[in-house]
Amino acid sequence: MQNIISQLNEAQQAPVLQKDGPMIVIAGAGSGKTRVLTVRIANLMSQGVDAFNILALTFTNKAAREMKIRIADIVGNNEAKNLWMGTFHSIFAKILRIEADKLGYPSNFTIYDTQDSVRLIGAIIKEMQLDKDVYKPKQVLGRISSYKNSLITVKAYFNNPDLQEADAMSKKPRMGEIYQHYVERCFKSGAMDFDDLLLKTNELLNRFPDVLAKYQDRFRYILVDEYQDTNHSQYLIVRALSDRFHNICVVGDDAQSIYAFRGANINNILNFQKDYDNVQMYRLEQNYRSSRNIVEAANNVIDKNKTKLDKVVWTANDEGPKIKVHRSLTDSEEGRFVASTIFEQKMQHQLPNGNFAVLYRTNAQSRSIEDALRKRDIPYRIYGGLSFYQRKEIKDVLAYLRLVINPKDEEALIRVINYPARGIGNTTIEKLTVAANHYKRSIFEVMEHIDKIDLKLNSGTKAKLQDFVTMIKSFQIINENQDAFYLTEHVTKKTGLVQELKKDGTPEGIARIENIEELLNGIKDFTEGQKEVDGARGALAEFLEDVALATDLDKDTGDDDRVALMTIHLAKGLEFPHVFIVGMEEDLFPSAMSMNTRSELEEERRLFYVALTRAEHQAYLTYAQSRYRWGKLVDSEPSRFIEEINDQYLDYLNPVDTGNYRYKPMMDIDIFGDIDKSKLRLSKPIASKPPVHLSAEVPKPNLRKLKPVSGVKTQGSSLFETNLTVGNVVMHERFGKGQIVSIEGIGADKKAEIKFDVGGLKKLLLKFAKLEVI
Ligand code: ATP
Ligand code: MG
Repeated sequence: MQNIISQLNEAQQAPVLQKDGPMIVIAGAGSGKTRVLTVRIANLMSQGVDAFNILALTFTNKAAREMKIRIADIVGNNEAKNLWMGTFHSIFAKILRIEADKLGYPSNFTIYDTQDSVRLIGAIIKEMQLDKDVYKPKQVLGRISSYKNSLITVKAYFNNPDLQEADAMSKKPRMGEIYQHYVERCFKSGAMDFDDLLLKTNELLNRFPDVLAKYQDRFRYILVDEYQDTNHSQYLIVRALSDRFHNICVVGDDAQSIYAFRGANINNILNFQKDYDNVQMYRLEQNYRSSRNIVEAANNVIDKNKTKLDKVVWTANDEGPKIKVHRSLTDSEEGRFVASTIFEQKMQHQLPNGNFAVLYRTNAQSRSIEDALRKRDIPYRIYGGLSFYQRKEIKDVLAYLRLVINPKDEEALIRVINYPARGIGNTTIEKLTVAANHYKRSIFEVMEHIDKIDLKLNSGTKAKLQDFVTMIKSFQIINENQDAFYLTEHVTKKTGLVQELKKDGTPEGIARIENIEELLNGIKDFTEGQKEVDGARGALAEFLEDVALATDLDKDTGDDDRVALMTIHLAKGLEFPHVFIVGMEEDLFPSAMSMNTRSELEEERRLFYVALTRAEHQAYLTYAQSRYRWGKLVDSEPSRFIEEINDQYLDYLNPVDTGNYRYKPMMDIDIFGDIDKSKLRLSKPIASKPPVHLSAEVPKPNLRKLKPVSGVKTQGSSLFETNLTVGNVVMHERFGKGQIVSIEGIGADKKAEIKFDVGGLKKLLLKFAKLEVI
């Protein structure tokens, strides 16, 4: 152990050697905070602290696993196995399962992912007959999520007139009711969403002092990585748990706080010293990760922020190459630059793909990079896109498995009750939902008692519902006797899922079958692993929990060698020898949505600081002068963040721009054709405008897009009623141009007398006349 500690510098050793008491390590990127945590845990164990008494909270499960492996190298595998290490969500899901009954939940509760939550909220909005353009399900979920993370329960919401008023002012007066329904429905389904895992833990620790005491006694040493990004709910949990022994060690960097938009509260780190008595504060100053140029450039960037703690970061590493700045005309060219540079570097220096990372502000930017990498045959992996477990066919299989564990799980049930098709239609499902709400039971329970409830279903439908119930129950019996792999294979066959995909026969269908096979392989691995540990049958419930809380980073086994593509948010804590930060453009990075206040802009700058400090050896900043965004090609100008770095650290790969990009108005170009400014300017809906009265003397051209007023199409519509008036100049398919002289009749019988330039006066039934106003 001494040997390991001596590899740390003095500043790093101090928080490792202080065994007890509260402490905080505040230090810049790459200064060894995570390493200090790892060595500290190993050291505690070598001093006789039982692994059972240590709790370590990390940003990803992958980080936890890696730390565990390093600790195992030092203290041995058997010891390390008992450590509780993981993300807030995974650790507290574990505790909640043990204590679920106290909160009225089954211990096999389901964890709803975002998709499940959004769908449920959508259904509630529909049932309440609200406008889903006003109550957008994703937005509503975001709102509910922020309530939960601030520990505002439904009851607290209704006791708080300010919150209600705020929602009413933003045209969502019924937010509270949606929140209430959502909470009730989750409860009825035996489900918790991600935020519940924290909210319910708080509730558990608050309401049950004996439970709190039990875990306080258990977790005598608590360690938290990336403390700057904890939200209020997480903060309270950590505080409560550490309240007995005060052996709490948190590490973080205020300059890397990048989750304020999700409720992270930078004050948690700033106020830590006030929360406990005798807090030891440690600072680390030496960066071991990056070359000097990068460290100094990053300092240069973060210096521009006003809200920050004063910190010194220096490095003894080589100066290294300057940061390369590359301008391209378009985003595709940017992609080609990235791909060809990776290709050349790999060739020249014999580097693996895993040495390269491409970081971007928004997920949508990955496409052009992917295209270019594919053309060069460079393998890559995207983190944060549609993850494996989010794919439709995988979610379908998982939904069946979720029902096996928890048949009350409404989202899983709705997903597969009629997939593959078994003749259970939407009307039936709606009736079941209504009945379930009425009886305050789950849909599955209603189905179990379908004989006793009068839902006006015919006997055929009832039989189908009963068959479904029987099928799920038969799976449950198998689950009691066989391992998870056997069960899953059985489920894919018995439900007809695989047959359905085979019928499809398209390459996509085949790819889906392969994905299901991959899932089966994953489950096999899992069950084998379980057998090794405790000889138990592979526990399906545990597998599902792993899946529910898996982040994309967690899946990365590092087995295959690929270039990493991810958003900057996901890259926190990671490091790569070569890092490309792409899309360095105003409105993209900093994001147009985050430039309204100084604090938003400062958060963007911190994000840039995080991005830059991921690089060990070489960083690239690339930007394009035009880029497709929302289907349109838009002009862009270089990000202010490039300008904020002193030129001495930069190496411009193409001559510096002379053009003044900033303040140049954006130009919209239709991707399907030439610029049509008249279209752009007059893109308001026609129907909402009053009819244009053109007198014969002033034949102004009508710039509105020509719109057919064919009677057949528009019969009875308001367009038909209002758009044609005496004086309109119209175009007829056969008679050409003419002017309306009079109009008579109503609705389908409406006729117009039109004086055509050629052909004279004619009376036409508007229902059939294909007229266009010009
Ligand atoms: P971030 O703020 O990005 O999370 P960090 O402060 O957690 O960074 P680490 O990831 O722990 O930094 O360390 C950065 C790199 O420096 C790692 O590769 C780590 O192994 C290495 N490192 C840390 N301390 C030392 C040291 N004393 N000697 C050699 N290498 C070190
Ligand atoms: Mg770290």
